[in-house]
Amino acid sequence: MLIAFDGPSAAGKGTLARGIAQHLGYHFLDTGALYRMVGLQMIRTQTDLNDATKIAAFARDLNVDDFENHELRSEVVGSAASKVAVIPEVRSALLKFQRDFAKRLPGAVLDGRDIGTVICPEADVKFYITASVSTRAARRFKELCGVGVDTTLEAVTDDIIARDTRDERLNLPARSSKDVIVIDNSELGVEEALAEVLGFVKAKTAKP
Ligand code: C5P
Repeated sequence: MLIAFDGPSAAGKGTLARGIAQHLGYHFLDTGALYRMVGLQMIRTQTDLNDATKIAAFARDLNVDDFENHELRSEVVGSAASKVAVIPEVRSALLKFQRDFAKRLPGAVLDGRDIGTVICPEADVKFYITASVSTRAARRFKELCGVGVDTTLEAVTDDIIARDTRDERLNLPARSSKDVIVIDNSELGVEEALAEVLGFVKAKTAKP
């Protein structure tokens, strides 16, 4: 069983994907973390963004110890991730990791930008989770304040808009898939959104 979650940054897809994986006892992969690990490595080694060969090598040789590194969650690393994500060699280097993960039993939940279309077009259930810029900015601002980051709502909103613009340049067809279920969770609380998502998963997988 394979469930795909795509959508823009800070739309809440990670929370939903993780929650559903936990509920169903499936493996969960935050694919954004893979791009963030490559971005972090680029920052640490002061590698030039134009050095695609070296950056692709970081993607082929991911440092799995970094998966739980708190630095990954920073806006600086998030923005580096969206810069390295446009390098085709980086995307193809990360493809195999994601596809192998998707085969895990008894099931896997992946969240990202191109899971239901490029990485796992065969996914059993595909979601596109979205929310308005103001909702996403307010949620991210609260989250950052909660971990003691000194920022403003304006700065967070600007970051989200800048990241959307960069992500649009990736031209990823996350939403174009015919069988995708689009959920706008601007007005939904976490529990409500989880219940809605779970309802779709159950309906899609119910035996006739
Ligand atoms: O989801 P998250 O904000 O952690 O992703 C960081 C960046 O990595 C995104 O802004 C996007 O540019 C890139 N990304 C991607 N494909 C994915 C996941 C993330 O290009 N499957």
